[in-house]
Amino acid sequence: MLYSIRMRSAKGGAHENGGHHISGAERILSKEELAQTASELVTRALTHSKGCADFIRITIDAIEDDDIVYKPALDVAITKADSVAEGLEAAYRLLETSGINREAIQKALFTLRSQPENMRGALICNAETGERMDDLGLRGVRVSRMAFADPADAIPHFEKQGHTGVHFEEALVLASKVLGYPDILGEFCVSDDPDYAVGYVSYGHTYHRLTPVKELGDQRGGRIFFVKPDTDPDSLRHYLEETTVLVTIETI
Ligand code: AMP
Repeated sequence: MLYSIRMRSAKGGAHENGGHHISGAERILSKEELAQTASELVTRALTHSKGCADFIRITIDAIEDDDIVYKPALDVAITKADSVAEGLEAAYRLLETSGINREAIQKALFTLRSQPENMRGALICNAETGERMDDLGLRGVRVSRMAFADPADAIPHFEKQGHTGVHFEEALVLASKVLGYPDILGEFCVSDDPDYAVGYVSYGHTYHRLTPVKELGDQRGGRIFFVKPDTDPDSLRHYLEETTVLVTIETI
């Protein structure tokens, strides 16, 4: 039996009472690993560069084996640009290869940056028009319940290619789950960490790290999922938030 453990933390009270989001994380693991991981997640919420959380919620659920879906990990590529403008231009070009309109990307980015504060989840946007398709306000769609199927295999596999760190692992797992849904054509992510100017786009079978996609010191970040225009938002949300996905490193 596996367990899902999820943590969200905020400052100024709980998110639903107006607190500002500090950090969130989750894992899927065995019963024996739960206590140690809970402690690591609390430390993360208390020592984040965005501040010390005063609200921390940890949720743990058991997962039935029959409810688990397996999806392949995306391949990893990296582009280092000389400026934010160049980094963004690379993002547009890569997403266009997946059939996402440049105007749609620009419109969706504008929507993301017009939010009064950072969203906790992602925007779902029409890949042709850039219109927002979810009605979840500042919360957005929260991708949850995903992990490497076998971290002891997956982590060294990516380390050998020079890709390391918990930021990277979590983002790759999330992006692999997201692109595992046939109606999603691509994702654009900008970190909300002011010390971290890295972002990524994912499309086809590739997770493409890009740096820089914002100025250092800028706290504004977020995620946009670009979907086919006839996507059913409820089924999509169910997959992203409720379906347990384990990411494998078989070649695709
Ligand atoms: P991070 O990758 O943690 O720097 O997060 C960057 C942005 O992605 C956040 O500001 C959120 O808007 C969004 N985000 C973070 N975690 C999730 C998630 N699990 N599902 C959807 N969007 C997320």
